[in-house]
Amino acid sequence: MNNRVHQGHFARKRFGQNFLNDQYIIDSIVAAIHPQKGEAMVEIGPGLGALTEPVGERLDALTVVELDRDLAARLQTHPFLGPKLTIFQQDAMTFDFAALAQARGQPLRVFGNLPYNISTPLMFHLFSYTDAIKDMHFMLQKEVVNRLVAGPGSKAYGRLSVMAQYYCQVIPVLEVPPESFTPAPKVDSAVVRLVPHAVVPHPVQQIKTLSRITLEAFGKRRKTLRNSLGHLFSDAVFAELGVDATLRAENISVAQYCQLANWLTANPVSQEE
Ligand code: SAM
Repeated sequence: MNNRVHQGHFARKRFGQNFLNDQYIIDSIVAAIHPQKGEAMVEIGPGLGALTEPVGERLDALTVVELDRDLAARLQTHPFLGPKLTIFQQDAMTFDFAALAQARGQPLRVFGNLPYNISTPLMFHLFSYTDAIKDMHFMLQKEVVNRLVAGPGSKAYGRLSVMAQYYCQVIPVLEVPPESFTPAPKVDSAVVRLVPHAVVPHPVQQIKTLSRITLEAFGKRRKTLRNSLGHLFSDAVFAELGVDATLRAENISVAQYCQLANWLTANPVSQEE
């Protein structure tokens, strides 16, 4: 049998389609999500329903966002899920999660085995809606999960770690081997839980400034902060903020990035330099 065909559907590579086929893994993910009746649950990329079915069984209603028209149509006619589903056949990258939370009158619980080709931009899209989200459970490339959870001093620590941890508590849940999918991806996978902070521990005045600083610092991650961010912060400012300018991007904490961002927001002239 063609290894790209699963349940009569030819997996589309451009949509990052790798369907879960491993019941033990599926059960473990659903147990980690722990869906409860009445919750506003949303699945990104339901595909052939590997997670949708067991989660849907526990609920009266479930929202799904699926880009592939054929798969969305299949779900619409699914024998027991069909009537429970609200299906948005659209790109999750353009989905308005805040509008859905408002319509449902409660924060969303978002989950999905994400298409790996867009997982990082999709995470950033979701971070902009953390006020409307209670928690998120995602299957991702293991390497991306490692980056989400990484702390200062590790190779995996980067812009994604800082931005994710700014918004959320990040908890790795389980690792998943390639054979658990059809077709098997070339990389290992892992499930992660992201819980938006009720109160952001290190709030910044402007998220775009934090975004800019992390982009510039990690863009030159082998250089010292004096070299990568010296055009924004003088040695005196680094010293005033207690940030050692001889360190590299990967050596300073989320709290320190937030401090730098707030200083820059309060001193906008230097942004033009
Ligand atoms: N949930 C299924 C499973 O676990 O077997 C399928 C997971 S598969 C890795 C990713 C799913 O996301 C596919 O169904 C794919 O069509 C869908 N998808 C891809 N890009 C998408 C996008 N931009 N927005 C919404 N869904 C997307």
